[in-house]
Amino acid sequence: MQPSFHTALLGGLLYSLRNVPNCVPVTILCPSTFPRSVFVTNRNDHENNPLDPNFRLIKSIIAQLQERSGRTSFKVDKSKSLQNTHTANCTPVSLDIQPDLMFCSPGILLNRGSQRLFTKIIVKLKRHSSRKSTNSNLDRARCCVNDEFDFYPNDGTIWKSLRSTDINRLTRNFLWKCMHETFHVGTFWDKVPHLEHLGNCPTCTVPDTMEHIALECSAPGQRIIWNSCEKIWNLRYPLWPKLHWGLVLGCGLPRFRSNKGHRLRGKERFFTILLSASVHLIWKLRNERVLEGKNITHTEIENRWISTINSALKRDQTLTNKAKFGSLGKTKQIVLETWSGVLQNEDALPDDWTQSKGVLVGIWPTTRRSGVG
Ligand SMILES: [Zn+2]
Repeated sequence: MQPSFHTALLGGLLYSLRNVPNCVPVTILCPSTFPRSVFVTNRNDHENNPLDPNFRLIKSIIAQLQERSGRTSFKVDKSKSLQNTHTANCTPVSLDIQPDLMFCSPGILLNRGSQRLFTKIIVKLKRHSSRKSTNSNLDRARCCVNDEFDFYPNDGTIWKSLRSTDINRLTRNFLWKCMHETFHVGTFWDKVPHLEHLGNCPTCTVPDTMEHIALECSAPGQRIIWNSCEKIWNLRYPLWPKLHWGLVLGCGLPRFRSNKGHRLRGKERFFTILLSASVHLIWKLRNERVLEGKNITHTEIENRWISTINSALKRDQTLTNKAKFGSLGKTKQIVLETWSGVLQNEDALPDDWTQSKGVLVGIWPTTRRSGVG
């Protein structure tokens, strides 16, 4: 069972009910409306929803309530905040959450279910075999994010970060495939007769992996792009982290904090956008080079990267249109926080430049001609 606030609340309630004589009237006072909702107002919904993570616990409490002869009432007491509840010096207790079948039916009532609910239960019961490579990548992302940001995300948080709308749709798909290692690189070709040589990087002649392509390959591309990232990052922030493949996979999970401990959402978004867009571009450039045989110059790579980041900026500006995107859009505040400090001629821009045309990032190719002539 996943630990959660509601699980703890229900566990405490079950423990208390079991330690009070059944004939004694009990009033349950709680600052939250949750227990009253589960056992009084919406009891039918909770009692017949096996997909609820606390289903067995709820059933056990219902059995306990049925067994009682004394009156039990639930009251909401807003005078006490749960946040101020002392948790220190608590002694852990083990709790049997098997419902007593004398007082509660197992499972759910057939007439309470629906086709939709039963299908959901069947799908949930089906065990999906997990891929070894996916688990390994999840662990790499988790460890790197923990090393860099002192934050240890679980699998659900990592998957959710890959669906973040801060990242554009195609890049989200790309990162999802990276996590599952579905691209045809490296060891994939070991199983294809006569094409085993494609498993090696044509430039470095070492086994090709997504990590090698993104962070190690000596072919023109990754180094130029990461240097550009560091350059634009340093326009506003001093330290660019050392990149690892796990950090690239966990690019949607940065945690930057101010001196007072507040999350710096703009900085986090900028990091996510920068890393995700850059690694996707490195992959596209690699494919053009290896599969299409293109010779891509240093200047072209820099220009392509600047164009990619400008597209991300433009996308953010567009997403501030609340009338068009509603809750899927972004607030002007967060977009301003994300990009301010890294824009071209920023002093000449209005305070709210989210609706202005021609806003660009303030970085140029290293080979840009300067002066006249
Ligand atoms: Zn290489």
